[in-house]
Amino acid sequence: MQLPENTLESARQWDAQDPLNAFREQFLIPKVEQTPIVYFTGNSLGLQPRDAGAAVEREMEDWARYGVEGHFHARHPWFSYHERFAAGEASIVGARLEEVVLMNQLTSNLHFLLISFYRPKGKRVKILMEHGPFPSDRYALASQIALHGLDPTECLVEMQPREGEQLLRTDDILAKITELGDELALVLFGGVNYFTGQAFNMEAITAKAHEMGAMAGFDLAHAAGNIPMQLHDWNVDFACWCTYKYLNSGPGSVGGAFVHQRHLKSELPRLAGWWGHDKKTRFQMGPDFSPMQTAEGWQVSNAPVFNMVIHGIALAQFVQAGMERLRTKSLMLTGYAEAIIDQINDKHLAGLQVITPRDPAQRGCQLSIVAPVKGKTIYNRLTERAVSVDWREPSVIRLAPVPMYNSFEDVFRFGQVLKECLGVK
Ligand SMILES: *Cc1c(COP(=O)(O)O)cnc(C)c1O
Repeated sequence: MQLPENTLESARQWDAQDPLNAFREQFLIPKVEQTPIVYFTGNSLGLQPRDAGAAVEREMEDWARYGVEGHFHARHPWFSYHERFAAGEASIVGARLEEVVLMNQLTSNLHFLLISFYRPKGKRVKILMEHGPFPSDRYALASQIALHGLDPTECLVEMQPREGEQLLRTDDILAKITELGDELALVLFGGVNYFTGQAFNMEAITAKAHEMGAMAGFDLAHAAGNIPMQLHDWNVDFACWCTYKYLNSGPGSVGGAFVHQRHLKSELPRLAGWWGHDKKTRFQMGPDFSPMQTAEGWQVSNAPVFNMVIHGIALAQFVQAGMERLRTKSLMLTGYAEAIIDQINDKHLAGLQVITPRDPAQRGCQLSIVAPVKGKTIYNRLTERAVSVDWREPSVIRLAPVPMYNSFEDVFRFGQVLKECLGVK
C-alpha cells in the first residue's frame, strides 16, 4: 500500500486529495489554545457532529409545540422514530432492513438477546468468548449463565492465545469450537477486541459454531462504523453495538441490535414490552403480546428520541461517506500511523511493540502499543501535548485515527509529538 512520507508537506498533500477530507469540518474538535488537538480516542467516544445541537433544538421545539401530539405530529413523529434509522443501520452492519433495530444501550441489548439466544439444554451449556473481553460482556455472560442455575466457572470458556502470544489465531478459535462440540451453546465474541484491536473472522466463527449446533453472536462496539461487515450473508445469529464510539452519537447514546432474518418469525423466548408489540394493534392495549416479525419485536420501551436525534445526524454522515470509502481511508491512515511508529521505534530502539495484528485485514483503525518501559510517562506526555490517546493497564497505549474526521496531518503530528515524548529527535 502506498502511504504518505513522514513529512508535513506529504501529509498535507494526502489530505488535500482525500475525498472524505471535508467531513472533518463537520465536527467539533476539542482545542488547546485555538489548536485542535490530535483526537485519537474516537474508539472510546466519537466527536460531536457540528449539526447535532441544532437537531436537538428542533426536537425540543416540536416537544414545546405539540406536547404529546408530537408522537404523531413532530417533524419526525416519535411513534415511529426508530424506523428512520433502519436503512442507515443496515448499511453499517450489512443487514436487511427488518434485521436491525435501534434500542436501549449496548450491554442491555446484549442481555435481551442472550435471553433469546443462550438456551442451555442438557450438556449443551457452554459459552465461548474471546480472550480478554470488555468486562461488561463477561459480567453479562456470567450473570446469564447464573440465571439458568448454572455455574459460570464451568460454563463460560475464555479462548486463550498460544503461550507468549497476545492475539487469537482463527484456526485455533475454530479448533476450540470443534473441541467444545456438543457442549457448546453459544459463541459470543467482540467483532473487534477493544484491547488488542484484533478483528475476528466473524464469518468463519459463525459457520463453525453452526456446524457444531451452536449459536454465534457478536458485540460490535468496536466494529460498528469501523470495519465493513455483512452480518446477513455471514449468517450471524445476533449482534449488538453502541453508537457513541465510532458512530459519534454522544455519551451513552442509543444502542443497536441485529437479529438474523431466519429467527424473526421463530418461537424464541424473549423479554417482552409494549414497543415490541405489533404496531398496528399496540394502542389497543390488549393483554396478549404479539411481537413484530422484525428485529423491532425485541424492543421493550418507546424510543429515546433525544439520543436518537443525535445518532440520526451522525448516521447520515456515515451513509454519505459510505463504509467502503471510509475503510479505504482507514487502511491508509492506520497504515501511516503504524509506519511512523515503526520508523521511530527502529531508529531509536524505543521498545514499543504494536500488538494489534500487522495484517490490515485483521484490524480496524485502532493500534494498541505496548510500552513496557515508562509507558505511563509516555502516555502522560502525549496527553500534555494535546494528543488524545488512552491508557490501559498494565502497559498499553491505544490510538485510533478514525477516517471520518482524522487527517494525515494528525498522524504526522502524532509522530512528531511521540518523538518529543521519547526524548529523541
Ligand atoms: C464500550 C463497550 C461496552 C460498554 O457498554 P455500555 O452498555 O455501552 O455501557 C460494552 N462492551 C464492549 C465490548 C465495549 O467495547
